Amino acid sequence: MFQDLGAITYHNPFYNRAPKDDDTVLIYQGDSVLAVRNGSALALPTVASLPAALRAAPLRYAFSLDERAFFLGDSGGLLAQEDLIPSRDCRQMEPKELVFACAVGESLHRWYNASRFCGRCGSKMLDSETERARVCPDCGLINYPKICPAVIVAVHDGDRLLLTRYRNRPFKRYALVAGFNEIGETIEDTVRREVLEETGVHVKNLRFYKSQPWVFTDSLLMGFFCELDGSDRITLQDDELSEAVWFPRAEIPSDHSSISLTGEMIELFRNNFA
Ligand SMILES: [Zn+2]
Repeated sequence: MFQDLGAITYHNPFYNRAPKDDDTVLIYQGDSVLAVRNGSALALPTVASLPAALRAAPLRYAFSLDERAFFLGDSGGLLAQEDLIPSRDCRQMEPKELVFACAVGESLHRWYNASRFCGRCGSKMLDSETERARVCPDCGLINYPKICPAVIVAVHDGDRLLLTRYRNRPFKRYALVAGFNEIGETIEDTVRREVLEETGVHVKNLRFYKSQPWVFTDSLLMGFFCELDGSDRITLQDDELSEAVWFPRAEIPSDHSSISLTGEMIELFRNNFA
């Protein structure tokens, strides 16, 4: 999965620290990042290599990968298109740790950008000096980074797995049932509700598999395997899905994304590990 960095450790505690010349900078403009592409290799600027106009804007400490610190900058809309790489293209590039850094940084950038003003009183918000938060100096509202919990559900019935396909989305491969947690709902109830809403079947024996920070959509995915409970008759939620099908293990397609939890879970079932 895309966040698996091998021996490299992601350090995300908050520090209110100043940038050094050799620290790495993440600067976004629109849906692109300031970076250099050399074939499939991705390189990011350092503080020292930034043009003066970009260095003048404040840089915020974001996180570190091992000892390498990453700071978020502000493009001010000044960057030329030829200096930018669309974020979607970065996902296919190397090294993996920079792909991860670009994606995590972009989620943080989106949140900072969307929390410039207080949603309660409209005042300009400020960075907290003690934690990753935006604070309203007038009414005291505190905003924390946006992370939306969601589920990915592999429903199986003996040797069959329930696969779905989205309607009206660029992603055309088979997927698993998925959906967001609602306020006041346990994550287990999210699993039951989403499966029922999307496919009309009931499930039992939920088993949590693992989670994945899907920072591309500011989500935290929680993957569950569970068994069909009762009738296998599918009633499709056809405004969201174009298809929901029981696939015998031997017929499950193998063209799954290696970066996603969905892909990993389908592969596990296909290879008889789940
Ligand atoms: Zn306020």
